[in-house]
Amino acid sequence: MATHLITSVIVVAAADEALSAARAAGATLIELRADLIGDATAIERLLVDKRAAGKWILTIRRADEGGAWDGDEDERISLFERLGLAQPGWIDVEFAAWERSANIRQKIGLVAAGTQADSRAIDRPRGGLILSLHDLRGTPEEPELSRRLAEIRRARPAVAKIVTTARDGVDAFRVLSLLAREAGEGPLIALAMGEAGLMTRVLAPKFGAWGNFAAPHRGGESAPGQVTIAELRGRYRYDSITPATRVFGVLGWPVRQSKSPRIHNAAMAHDGVDGVYVPIPIEPDRARFIEFMTRAAEEPALGFDGFSVTIPHKEHALEWLDQNGGCVSRLARRCGAVNTLIRDADGWRGENTDATGAWSAIAPCFDDKPAADRTALLLGAGGVARAVATALLDRGFDVTVVNRTDSRATLLAAALGCRSVAWSQRPDLAPALIVNCTSVGMWPNVAETPLAASALRPGCIVFDTIYNPGRTRLLRDAAAVGCVTISGVEMFLAQAAAQYELWHGCAAPLDVMREALA
Ligand code: NAP
Repeated sequence: MATHLITSVIVVAAADEALSAARAAGATLIELRADLIGDATAIERLLVDKRAAGKWILTIRRADEGGAWDGDEDERISLFERLGLAQPGWIDVEFAAWERSANIRQKIGLVAAGTQADSRAIDRPRGGLILSLHDLRGTPEEPELSRRLAEIRRARPAVAKIVTTARDGVDAFRVLSLLAREAGEGPLIALAMGEAGLMTRVLAPKFGAWGNFAAPHRGGESAPGQVTIAELRGRYRYDSITPATRVFGVLGWPVRQSKSPRIHNAAMAHDGVDGVYVPIPIEPDRARFIEFMTRAAEEPALGFDGFSVTIPHKEHALEWLDQNGGCVSRLARRCGAVNTLIRDADGWRGENTDATGAWSAIAPCFDDKPAADRTALLLGAGGVARAVATALLDRGFDVTVVNRTDSRATLLAAALGCRSVAWSQRPDLAPALIVNCTSVGMWPNVAETPLAASALRPGCIVFDTIYNPGRTRLLRDAAAVGCVTISGVEMFLAQAAAQYELWHGCAAPLDVMREALA
């Protein structure tokens, strides 16, 4: 059975239009959120419309489960009955309310199949009962999560629905794992709300969910973290996700701003690769990252085959590989960081494509000039500085590191075997290449620069690793005095292309990636 794509109508004024638009966008079921719509007579009118026959879910969500109904419970039950009788369809009732109230069980039994009223002879067509649980505070650990689902299922609904709130990817992974294990046992919806729950929405069809909720348009979300139908079907190629689809993602905190999903999904779509790439926020602490990777490694059947790793987890990724028998490339070890995780037949291994990406961006200025001056000044001593320094030292550059916190520059230089001088001396050097590896000038602080224009000399090559914006103040100043400039966009694309090659075994469609980034 294909996973239903469900969208909610939350205002009745435009409900008729919303129904048509949602269908046109690809929704197979429409949820009527009577708690948000408010106007019962208007909903009734809509329900008797033949076009809606059998294609709707009626929901009157209580406030304590994330809805807007804070009125009388008996009134709510009567409304279920009245609207449910208007036309057969699905009815979504909170499991807690179902358990509490004999009245709700009796009344809803009259209008929805898959209930305890099943044994009674009812001669008109009835819809199906969806029993749902919404945890607005978090995602229970196992075995509690499974226990709650089992409880819902004991009431024998037509569909069981469990929706939690994800703090980060660890929680979302637990929900997916539940779905993967349990979907075969009976119709199930398992989703996590919040930004971190995105992967549970994108991957619902891979793990056999009965249904999945998406917003008809931006601003039309009926729960936190919902994406639009257009985004699911466009960026994430929802319609082509099957159990065989391989999963990739970016692990970091935050990842909301990451452009990687955009470019990797576009590239896979172009090449016809059966894969999907999702943002997976993982809280900053090391233990949380280790927990996520341990679970991903323990459940290979879930099909997570590769990750980009970004701030602050690149060092954690290296550590996790070391502690779990994973293989770390020589380059990644010298960089002290893993930004790419690859799962193959032998397990997980780690690579660093920041270093290769940085060199790809710089190479056109030096590759065919063996006699060129190879002196380089690196501004910054963080993770990217270490990767760029490694790439340059490997190619015979004379590298000097400066950093706002001088001691970090000293440490980095000692670790890699290059030079460091005080941050205050940065305008006094006259290198052939200047590389900004600090975050100074990054959006939104676009007026800032790590090096005054007066320190830039014509003919110098200036590379800013920042890619948002693509033209930083440093690059604009540099171009104005006659320097050759290189944008961080080039490094970003090259490191992503290298990841693509590692995961898919073929060259990345760079033009497609560039276009997606633009
Ligand atoms: P990181 O490890 O946190 O290092 C940040 C660096 O910026 C440190 O050297 C820090 O100096 C310096 N810094 C921060 N604020 C500063 C300020 N106000 N004045 C002077 N220096 C300052 O970060 P990272 O992973 O190396 O990333 C650095 C930058 O690289 C990012 O901002 C990003 O734009 C860019 N990047 C580009 C790509 C790409 O593919 N193009 C990939 C990743 C990152 P202290 O040591 O004194 O704090």
